[in-house]
Amino acid sequence: MFGPLTVKPSNSKGDKTGSWRTQSRPHYLHKDCIACKMCLMICPEGCVHGKEKNAFWADYNFCKGCGVCADICPKKDIAMVAEESPIESKGEGR
Ligand code: SF4
Ligand code: SF4
Repeated sequence: MFGPLTVKPSNSKGDKTGSWRTQSRPHYLHKDCIACKMCLMICPEGCVHGKEKNAFWADYNFCKGCGVCADICPKKDIAMVAEESPIESKGEGR
């Protein structure tokens, strides 16, 4: 039969889920942000950071590129850009 199984707990903070991203990533435009925090609250990876207007950003180490942050932003201040876009560094969406 089977012996006891031990599974190491895991979460997205331990696993760099950004490596799963293949097509697009969020680019924070920092033009019309009103700091409503909807992007931060809806992100399934908890990888959006920020407090002040026009200062939110996504940690690309964990962003999966799902795009819900861009969809929910009431000011359309987040653009989904091609993964290979040179718009900004690979590290952060700011
Ligand atoms: S695309 Fe936006 S909502 Fe999706 S994981 Fe990346 S930062 Fe989070
Ligand atoms: S959802 Fe848009 S307006 Fe709201 S905090 Fe995020 S970037 Fe700013």
